[in-house]
Amino acid sequence: MVVKRAVFLDRDGVVNKNRPDCIHNYHQFQFLPGAFDAIIRLCQNGLVPALITNQSCIGRGWVPESRIRHIHATLQQRLNQRGGGFMNVYYCPHNPKAGCRCRKPEALMLRKALSDYKAAPSEAVFVGDNVTDFLAAKNARVPFILVRTGYGEKSLKKIDPRDPGLLSVQEDLAGAVDFLLR
Ligand SMILES: [Mg+2]
Ligand SMILES: [Zn+2]
Repeated sequence: MVVKRAVFLDRDGVVNKNRPDCIHNYHQFQFLPGAFDAIIRLCQNGLVPALITNQSCIGRGWVPESRIRHIHATLQQRLNQRGGGFMNVYYCPHNPKAGCRCRKPEALMLRKALSDYKAAPSEAVFVGDNVTDFLAAKNARVPFILVRTGYGEKSLKKIDPRDPGLLSVQEDLAGAVDFLLR
């Protein structure tokens, strides 16, 4: 059993389908197959997962921050309706040009989440599809699970499979949750 105290998830490409532009409303938020149930399973096992997501569409002026908050609030409602699930959300709203310290591959969001969860890096896990997720995890010393959904297949080619920061490679979020709860 690889159960961790703190399970952190990238959003786009892990929970929902990536879109070439960005997600403007909850109707455009399309869950990847099995992802919603996977989050519910984490919750049912006493875990409170957290999203760790770059949302530069706010800083670029494409989507108002209130809209992003509304999408996440709707997601919360749906989780709550389907089994009392709850999830925390950490997002970076900044434009990539702003040079902030939260936008992945920077580790500030993960460090903040570790502190909120009172978890050591080794007690946490980060599930992502992008090389920048992997680098953020490495920067925070949090073990990383790469999923093949989203940009996962592409990222796999850029990550050394023997890298000690790579805990596992899984098909998708459901596979990652199986791995964690096994
Ligand atoms: Mg992603
Ligand atoms: Zn930021």
